[in-house]
Amino acid sequence: MKEINASEFEREVLQSERVILDFYSTECPPCEALASKFEDLSRLYGNDVKFLKIFRQGNRELAEKLGVKSSPTLLFYNKGQEVGSRLTGGIKRSEIIRNLDTMLPADKVKEIKSLIKPSVSEFDVIILGAGPGGLTAGLYLCQSKINTVLVDIALPGGQVRTTHEVSNYPGFIEPQAGYMLSHNMSEQTKLCGTIYKVAVDVTRVDLEKKEVVIDEHETVKAKKIIIATGTTPNLTGAQGEKELKGKGISYCATCDAKYYDDKEVIVIGGGNSAVEESEYITRFVNKLTIVHQFDKLTANKQAQEKALKNPKINILFENEPRAFIKEGDKIITEVENVKTKVRQKLVSDGVFIFIGMKPNIGLFRDKLELDQWGYIKTDEDMRTSIPGVYAVGDVISKKYRQITTAVADGTIAAMAIAKELD
Ligand SMILES: Cc1cc2nc3c(=O)[nH]c(=O)nc-3n(C[C@H](O)[C@H](O)[C@H](O)COP(=O)(O)OP(=O)(O)OC[C@H]3O[C@@H](n4cnc5c(N)ncnc54)[C@H](O)[C@@H]3O)c2cc1C
Repeated sequence: MKEINASEFEREVLQSERVILDFYSTECPPCEALASKFEDLSRLYGNDVKFLKIFRQGNRELAEKLGVKSSPTLLFYNKGQEVGSRLTGGIKRSEIIRNLDTMLPADKVKEIKSLIKPSVSEFDVIILGAGPGGLTAGLYLCQSKINTVLVDIALPGGQVRTTHEVSNYPGFIEPQAGYMLSHNMSEQTKLCGTIYKVAVDVTRVDLEKKEVVIDEHETVKAKKIIIATGTTPNLTGAQGEKELKGKGISYCATCDAKYYDDKEVIVIGGGNSAVEESEYITRFVNKLTIVHQFDKLTANKQAQEKALKNPKINILFENEPRAFIKEGDKIITEVENVKTKVRQKLVSDGVFIFIGMKPNIGLFRDKLELDQWGYIKTDEDMRTSIPGVYAVGDVISKKYRQITTAVADGTIAAMAIAKELD
């Protein structure tokens, strides 16, 4: 692996056969997360592909010329031409390998794969998920000198990392940008000494044996596991939804309704959470339109009656969203009548989507006792039905899912584990 600067780009990159180039920056957590993967892969592929690094801040002109806009960015070159897809953000080992493999002949790829040696490392505790719940557990365990590894399929921070603003986390007078709050939580836990394995593929989880396989070859073992994998909101699948998440489209009324004082919003859904959250949102907004796919609400009767009596709530039945478009400060929701197929555009200041959440338990669904909605059941110390396995945060069966409640769960699990391991 070699560090280059802009003046060497022509010779080292464009005049070479196969190259991978890492534009990195300092004070860049995703760059730190990439560094060990890059180094490890350079040992495997280094005879066939040139592994180069370039400091983005010191070589700004070249970065701009190449259209590199964030750190880290990985570029792949073959005989002077950029090939494959650029990788940026929380880059996974498997994504890099996919690109490298397309640059090499099949027999070479096979030969390199045969050199990958499985590794095993042992810890006291494995935490799956580095959102507020997992990060807090990591902090408490680390401060109790318990050897802990945090494993996350993405970069640390969980849902807070992509939340626009957080104004209900105690200790801050002004609202905090979600990415800053999660960054500070993560740095605090990391600086304490917790080991991070983030932006990885979690290949297999064995809760009974307390083993987790990462990136297909690296096994981490421990005495205890904490599951802190959170939830994923169900998406409508309408065009523009992913792009506008946190930029006008929200999945949390407690978190975001207060930003719509005297405004007008759309709510997608018609079940209990949509109708009850709509009631709550009308404390702030002037007008709220529920868009629901059926000809009746599916929430319980009491909630329905309340909503139907609320003068601020209108309901548009038998319609589904097809697209969300941002126009200045407004969000245009294009809806389609499910029977007539006629489309119309609804203009509002924001959109709330409540069509259910799913707990992230895909890898261990069958092994744990769950509630009727698929959330993990725990006791008051956050113990699950499997001895030595704890669960915290949004993934557990509970009534209120917030940062503060996830943080509290993480604290409890860590303290209970510290006591047990003592
Ligand atoms: C848009 C939005 C805005 C919000 N705003 C607020 C707010 O203002 N205030 C507030 O209190 N709450 C807010 N919330 C709720 C809050 O974000 C959650 O309650 C909190 O993040 C839950 O923390 P957690 O650690 O349980 O899970 P999460 O934050 O969801 O973190 C889970 C982590 O687990 C990782 N993961 C998933 N699967 C795996 C796996 N198989 N292996 C390893 N890792 C995995 C994920 O990548 C993620 O990093 C908001 C939620 C949303 C969606």
